[in-house]
Amino acid sequence: MPSPDRGRPACKARLLAGLFVAGLTFPSFAGPAIPLASVDHACERLGQRLRSVDADFCKAAGFQADAASRAGFPLMHRDFRPRPEAAAPRRVLMIGGIHGDELTSVSIVFDWMRRLDQERLQPFHWRVIPSANPDGLLRAPSWRMNRGGVDLNRNFPSVDWGTRALEYWRHRTGADPRRYPGPRALSEPETVWLTEQIRQFEPHAIVSIHAPYGVLDFDGPQHPPQRFGLLRLNQLGTYPGSLGNFAGVDLALPVITLELPHAGIMPTRAQSQRIWTDMLTWLAEHVPGSAATWHPPLRYPDDESR
Ligand SMILES: [Zn+2]
Repeated sequence: MPSPDRGRPACKARLLAGLFVAGLTFPSFAGPAIPLASVDHACERLGQRLRSVDADFCKAAGFQADAASRAGFPLMHRDFRPRPEAAAPRRVLMIGGIHGDELTSVSIVFDWMRRLDQERLQPFHWRVIPSANPDGLLRAPSWRMNRGGVDLNRNFPSVDWGTRALEYWRHRTGADPRRYPGPRALSEPETVWLTEQIRQFEPHAIVSIHAPYGVLDFDGPQHPPQRFGLLRLNQLGTYPGSLGNFAGVDLALPVITLELPHAGIMPTRAQSQRIWTDMLTWLAEHVPGSAATWHPPLRYPDDESR
C-alpha cells in the first residue's frame, strides 16, 4: 500500500523511470495476503532460532506480510511513523538478514524496533524488514544464501549485472557457491520483493545490516559517516548485483551497510544503543529531505541482464 505521505513526487518519478528503463517487472510479490497465522508461525520460528528475539513481541509487533520466500515463508515488514507526526517525513528502509547466517543482523533489528516503539522524538518514517532471507536463516544450520542457493546480495538489478555478475563470480570468486549471483538479476522472490519495497516506499536512505566484519560501509552521493559506535568506516567496494551497487550507485540513494562484529554474538546493549544513536544523528543531519538536493538517477543501458 502506498503511504499517504508522498514527500517527493519527483523522486518517485525518477525512481520509477530508472526501474522501468531497466525493463523490470515485479511479477510475483502481489499475491494474496499472507494469513496472520503465518506471521505468528514465523515469529515462533524466529524466536526459536534467535535467542534474543521474543516470539510474543514479534507476534504483537504488527508485521505485514504480502509476499513469501522461495520456501513459502512470509516476508515481513512493519512501518514506524515519526514522532511527532510530520506531513512529509523522510523515509528510511532498514533491512536485516539478507545473508541467512548473519544471525545478529536480524536480532539487532528487533532490538531497534523496541527503541523505535519507545523513542519519544524521532523524525523518520521507517520501514523495517527484520529478516529478508528467512529460508537461509531457518535452515539447519543457517546459511548465507536463499533456498535456491543464491546470494541475494548479488541478485539486485544493478546496471552492471548483465555484463559483470556471472563473470565476476566465476573469475574473481572462483565460482564460490556462497557468492552465486543467480542465473539473472531478480531471479529470486526475495530480491523481487525487496526491490518492490524500494519502488513503493521510495526511501530517502537505506540501512542494511550484516556481520561479521565489524565496520561501517557506505554507498551513495553523500560524504560517508566516519563512525557509528564501535563501527568505523571502511568502504569495502561494490559488487555486481549488491544492494549498495543497485541502490547506492545506480539509484543514488545513501545506503548504510552496518557490519556487526559477530554473526552469532550480539553487541552489548550499550554498543547497540551507541550505534543506533550515532546513526539517527547522521541520518538527521545528512539525508536530504527535499528533491532539490537529490541526485539525478543514472540511466540504465540496454543490457542483457533480464
Ligand atoms: Zn552479509
